[in-house]
Amino acid sequence: MTRNAPKHDIDENGLEVGKPKDWAAGIPGVAVSLFRGVEQMGTGRTVKTLRLLNQREGFDCPGCAWPEPRAEDGEHRKLAEFCENGAKAVAEEATKRRVGPEFFAEHSISSLAEKTDYWLGQQGRLTEPVVLREGATHYEPISWDAAFELIAERLRGLAGPDEAVFYTSGRTSNEAAFLYQLLVRSFGTNNLPDCSNMCHESSGAALAETTGIGKGSVSLADIHRADLIVVVGQNPGTNHPRMLSALEEAKAHGAKVVAVNPLPEAGLMRFKNPQNVRGVVGKGTPLADEFAQIRLGGDLAFFQAIGHLLLSWEEAAPGTVLDREFIESSTHGFADYAERVRELDWHAVDTATGLPREDIVRIARMIADSERTIYCWAMGLTQHKHAVPTIKEISNVALLRGMIGKPGAGLCPVRGHSNVQGDRTMGIWEKMPEKFLSRLESEFGIPVPRKHGWDTVDSIRAMRDGRAKVFLAMGGNFAAATPDSELTEHALRSCELTVHVSTKLNRSHVVHGKSALILPTLGRTERDVQGGGEQFVTVEDSMSAVHTSRGRLKPASEHLLSEVAIICRLARALFGAGRAVPWADFERDYDLIRERIARVVPGCDDYNARVRQPDGFVLPHAPRDSREFAGTKNGKANFSANKLEFPEVPAGRLLLQTLRSHDQYNTTIYGLSDRYRGIEDGRRVVFVHPDDLASLGFADGELADLVSEWNGDERRVHRFRIVAYPTARGCAAAYFPEANGLVPLDSVAETSNTPTSKSIIIRLEAPN
Ligand code: SF4
Repeated sequence: MTRNAPKHDIDENGLEVGKPKDWAAGIPGVAVSLFRGVEQMGTGRTVKTLRLLNQREGFDCPGCAWPEPRAEDGEHRKLAEFCENGAKAVAEEATKRRVGPEFFAEHSISSLAEKTDYWLGQQGRLTEPVVLREGATHYEPISWDAAFELIAERLRGLAGPDEAVFYTSGRTSNEAAFLYQLLVRSFGTNNLPDCSNMCHESSGAALAETTGIGKGSVSLADIHRADLIVVVGQNPGTNHPRMLSALEEAKAHGAKVVAVNPLPEAGLMRFKNPQNVRGVVGKGTPLADEFAQIRLGGDLAFFQAIGHLLLSWEEAAPGTVLDREFIESSTHGFADYAERVRELDWHAVDTATGLPREDIVRIARMIADSERTIYCWAMGLTQHKHAVPTIKEISNVALLRGMIGKPGAGLCPVRGHSNVQGDRTMGIWEKMPEKFLSRLESEFGIPVPRKHGWDTVDSIRAMRDGRAKVFLAMGGNFAAATPDSELTEHALRSCELTVHVSTKLNRSHVVHGKSALILPTLGRTERDVQGGGEQFVTVEDSMSAVHTSRGRLKPASEHLLSEVAIICRLARALFGAGRAVPWADFERDYDLIRERIARVVPGCDDYNARVRQPDGFVLPHAPRDSREFAGTKNGKANFSANKLEFPEVPAGRLLLQTLRSHDQYNTTIYGLSDRYRGIEDGRRVVFVHPDDLASLGFADGELADLVSEWNGDERRVHRFRIVAYPTARGCAAAYFPEANGLVPLDSVAETSNTPTSKSIIIRLEAPN
């Protein structure tokens, strides 16, 4: 039964557009947090859950992967160590609303398919496993045993293990991720796409080449100690809101902040910290000392220009700008890089960035003068065709000044979903290195496949073409997270069986294979009791800190299983009980899983003891810890010489990015208030600069179809309300998943295969 859930779906006619804000958080942030908590959970439960959120004895926020302060760095957690969006994520999970068998009896699949993700998600927590049998119109209850038997039978019936795809979302715990990849590899495939394929894959690909490790090299304490923080293609106010407190603290110590972004996001401008007086009654803390309103995809050119200026100043006054000692002792490729950027095409830089040249010079001067610089970035950089070389250019600039492996300096790709980094550490990757695979093989005495599997884009292609027939998702909302919505939905519908391990209803449950299962699981906030007693799980944050997460609430239903239990029982149904892997023991006692993690996963020695330390432990990172780059092929940090690339947009067209509203996290839509951008009660909006609107013959308030153009193909989404907005000239923005249908599946970043969701050429058309 669903209680207090919205009866009606989004009515775009109710959309209201106001003025964008130039500050983030403050009292409204607190009010919204409390209101959403009480609305979904009631007062007592709101207090009970929020006081445990991100605390040592509590549970890890299911929102983003921003780290907690660590005592060993001399830092302390606050009583309220969470943000508005963390509170919303918890409210969604710990809601009292329920979706049980009677809900599915009442609602046919075709009627649910008409609903938006917002409405589906608002119905509440799933309580029992349900099945959609071939040709049926409704999901119906199924026992857990029958569900596992159904999956096992379909998997065994495939022509080969590569006909199955096993997706992971970034909420999955380390223990569940480790077992999941073990199950998948025991089955015989590396088809392990994950949400990282669509977000920071480009960062991993670039950093693996430049520093030898595809992770960031800074801690929270480094951010507090930096004297310059360059935030590029990132909107921390919505996507990693506690980062604003970190920026505020850095600024209190004298740091400067440079923001490089096409939109003047409120969270880049000013932060009203609700935990201090100045944030409540005062004007808050101004954040960006410099705001470079760059065009979408202009960042590679921007950083080449910075590199060019640093080199030219060094040439003019040798020994004053570059860290010569570091470059000579620890890096490779400097000469080729220097030759490339010395010849900079400033005209191309002007076109690519749209920035006044003096602004670039001023920022370069700040970088030259800084002793401790941190570069942070997110999807604004990673979802372009040239994303990987763009991130390499940031690396180049950092290496020029030796900004790696020293306190207060480094590279910081800010990760999205809470355990997306941990899942990769635990082996969720279609191309894990040989070292990991051979350790897995010898630990469990099973043959482990070596042929690379499919990532997200390749999995969609395989399902579309009938090469993949079973799709299993450990969390997430694949249909809404992926590009080319129509094609992806067709791909999912082409499967024989789709299976989703989920806490709540979402679009992927109504875009199903010929048969489908929904397997409801415990959330982070809930107690996890197994045969061996109460369990906890572990996660890794964006800065490689691994720690425990322990839920305290009574589970939403007595029928829920933990992700670990689901994997172990599926494995037993699939392989039988007599195999080398003790699945039943793993389900009973998660310490036994962690013992295996310790023996297989590099850096996790003595895992059980170290995660039980008050703040857990930090995984090793040689460039950060000792300025060593053993992970690269040549043992050095690598400069790279990259072609100056940027998206070329034909006249009469705009370059569109998809983005989140402030009231959503990834594909979960919490509500209809994007208050920082002035949007209320609707989502089908497209933000366009007023001068572009004038030159295209459109006006604020009109409706338009958005038509993307790529390699002669067109894709269309209908009836978006045009909002005149101070975005960079030539650039537009619209929310995902509504605009995902415009992103062609084959338009991907080179090397990383990440869909180019920040780089879509569109035209506006008046609707028919
Ligand atoms: S910053 Fe991220 S991890 Fe922290 S409370 Fe907010 S959403 Fe959760």
